[in-house]
Amino acid sequence: MANENRKPTTTDAGIPVASDEFSLTVGPDGPILLHDHYLMEQMASFNREMIPDRQPHAKGSGAFGRFEVTRDVSAYTKAALFQPGAKTEMLARFSTVAGESGSPDTWRDVRGFALKFYTTEGNYDMVGNNTPVFFVRDPMKFQHFIHSQKRRADSGLRDHDMQWDFWTLSPESAHQVAILMSDRGVPKSYRHMNGYTSHTYMWVNAKGERFWVKYHFKTDQGIDFLTDEEADRIAGEDADYHRRDLYNAIREGNPPSWTLKVQIMPFEDAKTYRFNPFDLTKVWPHGDYPLQEVGRMTLDRNPNDFHAEIEQAAFEPNNLVPGIGASPDKMLLARLVSYSDAHRARLGVNYKHIPVNAPKCPVHSYSKGGAMRMKNVSDPVYAPNSKGGPAADGERYPEDATWSADGDFIRAAYTLRKDDDDWGQPGALVREVMDDAARDRLVSNVVGHLKKGVTEPVLERALEYWRNIDKETGDRIAKGVKS
Ligand code: NDP
Repeated sequence: MANENRKPTTTDAGIPVASDEFSLTVGPDGPILLHDHYLMEQMASFNREMIPDRQPHAKGSGAFGRFEVTRDVSAYTKAALFQPGAKTEMLARFSTVAGESGSPDTWRDVRGFALKFYTTEGNYDMVGNNTPVFFVRDPMKFQHFIHSQKRRADSGLRDHDMQWDFWTLSPESAHQVAILMSDRGVPKSYRHMNGYTSHTYMWVNAKGERFWVKYHFKTDQGIDFLTDEEADRIAGEDADYHRRDLYNAIREGNPPSWTLKVQIMPFEDAKTYRFNPFDLTKVWPHGDYPLQEVGRMTLDRNPNDFHAEIEQAAFEPNNLVPGIGASPDKMLLARLVSYSDAHRARLGVNYKHIPVNAPKCPVHSYSKGGAMRMKNVSDPVYAPNSKGGPAADGERYPEDATWSADGDFIRAAYTLRKDDDDWGQPGALVREVMDDAARDRLVSNVVGHLKKGVTEPVLERALEYWRNIDKETGDRIAKGVKS
């Protein structure tokens, strides 16, 4: 292409440069001149291209789209994005958990399912997974859990012995481990998996009535999975298999979609339900709280700049909008604090100004000065004031997503209720939900996993763990491991 038809290369300050190929030197063979600012800028920028991986959920893919309400749920929430007829722009990012940013998409792992809705009343973020439960129920154990799934201090290797050591000493992990080792542990693609809030949230309607809610984003593409053999082969052939699939589906005009359904529990039920409904290791049986449709999310736009729009996307579950609140789930309460801290550490304190993270509605905050503030601030810079500055409106936006609590300050497990046990729900999954073929694959997946480096006494504990979930399945795994 002739030079006159192309935009001139510039420095980051917009100044046209003379060459894309040659540094400024003393004669063609002489040393490079230090005042070649363009060369210095290119090198400095390159040296700073990489930002730290997320810890965890480093490898991911994302796309933009919209959420459209299809049913009237205004009796349960006043949230603007869930009102009849609402259409909200959104971003989704799917990810593996334990692998680094270049790791294969098809390693057996839970998948992240993070959503950002650019609502008219501020950004609403949901940070879920493709599973309805989690490995631990107290945030004190979360860091230890992730360490056990990542790499050893000595060899820098991942280690199944370390993983099973943690799991078998943490029986609350049984439900999530059963799901991880099942077909759900390697989805066929990001398009072929569901997403769940896993946590319980609160919805509040216009009358101030409160409900507990769990979200289920059901894939409209249908659930599908890869066998261990397929996943291992693909890991070697195409580490970016799921990223490529999502990008190509959207590029080829085949936008994936998910139908949002919710389980709604009346506020008072939670006090007397047969197990603690806020325990993140348990689901609410569909028979007790049936799914109700809310709307559909469709992803139809790929990122233009993966780094700016996906790598730097910051999802934070503390972004809750009017009509939606937290719950007494201890894991959720800790995540409300830790995500924004992670973003400040990884992206920098001004991460909310990165365009993908910035709200699309007006912002009227009193934040001022420092690196966290990049936009013009106008007077008055304090509240209350009589100078026309923003004023909080507690009548229109009351702090109503609340509940009450009392008790001594204490470090303890949740109070046990009648049906609070760690083995019942994974046992139901294995015995009542899986068919024979799915159970066979589960046994084969667990045997294969245990045979890769799990040693005594962890191995015997792992067999006991599976017998606690389901005696027959545990016996079959024991036989497989010893054969
Ligand atoms: P249901 O028979 O009504 O629901 C069973 C659900 O299990 C299905 O709808 C499907 O959910 C899901 N499922 C199927 N295979 C797997 C798998 N390999 N791993 C994880 N989930 C799977 O029974 P209940 O509601 O009484 O729940 C029974 C068990 O089902 C639970 O103990 C739990 O393990 C599992 N489950 C329950 C969910 C719930 O919210 N009640 C949600 C997901 C799993 P989906 O359509 O969402 O894929």
